[in-house]
Amino acid sequence: MSHFTSSFAAQFASVRVRFGAGIRSQVSEEIARLGCKRALVLSTPPQADSAMEMAQEIGDLVVGVFTRATMHTPTAVTDEAVAHANLVRADCLVAIGGGSTTGLGKAIALRTDLPQIVVPTTYAGSEATNILGQTENGVKTTLTDAKVQPEVILYDAELVKTLPVGMTVTSALNAMAHAAEGLYAKDRNPVSTLLAIEGLEAFAEALDNVVANPADLEARGRTLYGAWLCGTVLGQVGMALHHKLCHTLGGSFDLPHAETHAVILPHALAFNARAAGRELEPVSRIFGNANPGRALYDFATRLGAPLALMEIGMREEDLVKAAELATSKPYWNPQPVTKEDIVTLLEAAFRGDPPAF
Ligand code: NAD
Repeated sequence: MSHFTSSFAAQFASVRVRFGAGIRSQVSEEIARLGCKRALVLSTPPQADSAMEMAQEIGDLVVGVFTRATMHTPTAVTDEAVAHANLVRADCLVAIGGGSTTGLGKAIALRTDLPQIVVPTTYAGSEATNILGQTENGVKTTLTDAKVQPEVILYDAELVKTLPVGMTVTSALNAMAHAAEGLYAKDRNPVSTLLAIEGLEAFAEALDNVVANPADLEARGRTLYGAWLCGTVLGQVGMALHHKLCHTLGGSFDLPHAETHAVILPHALAFNARAAGRELEPVSRIFGNANPGRALYDFATRLGAPLALMEIGMREEDLVKAAELATSKPYWNPQPVTKEDIVTLLEAAFRGDPPAF
């Protein structure tokens, strides 16, 4: 059965995407293709070696390396990076890393309109969206702007094979959350649904092999393919309760990004399955349980993902406050949301129990 609906709107960004183990060696070609000659390479501090290797690979077309990308894109770091880009007269950006590095590239692009080449090393999916989250004075705000959409993405399985198994699993569940919420998004379209299902299938097929053998390049490539598809869904349609809860827990209680997504996803899907059971049927089919939340809870358990908010830094006394914050300015959600239900959901997630709904 096709996913056609008689009325929908869809918008596609013009992005060049290349896949392949070793494809990072083509960065110079991509810089030249953009008509650029002066690349600034970006990374986080732990990935500075990868940034230096990338700079060597690029050779004459690189004018600087900035290795201070930080989680949640603080504007103070962005200001320094923009000053550096201006100083070296950069005409394009090469971001190598996860969502934090991609976020810095996007924040620089917002302020300078420099074109971006992203070489992702996690599955977060930020490279495929026009969304930017930034933090100023401890407050995170999110915007969408065509200027922040990266022009080129190079998915290189060799780079993601160094991602530790624990982060591999949580980052994959972070990506899968974009697709799962995309399935019931109010503004979904037949193509976003197709992308979401294919993205979930790619992770379901490849993750066991990646966990068993993190250097399996075929499986790593397949997970990057999943990340691209799931990220593209995030860039196309609005997210709902799951993302609202994760933004609240990350923003107000400082919980780690990917781990929070991993813990919350089964609970949010079980909650929403009552109103969006038909839309979530692909999750049930792919992961093998009539309750899509339970299906992902079992999948996450098998892969050794964190299951409990208490394991990742949440305090029990903050659960009610979190429920209040998450329901005070709610995102659109298929299942009506009440504070009492969200407390019940969070209590199960806190303990690491199977979903309560
Ligand atoms: P991250 O980029 O912060 O990476 C986590 C850590 O892992 C960093 O220290 C990084 O250097 C290291 N790392 C990354 N790849 C590695 C690899 N292959 N091998 C070894 N170490 C590696 O984490 P993330 O989960 O990719 O991104 C999270 C950030 O991205 C959050 O700020 C989130 O809000 C943002 N995000 C934004 C969007 C969007 O569309 N704007 C989408 C998803 C996530």
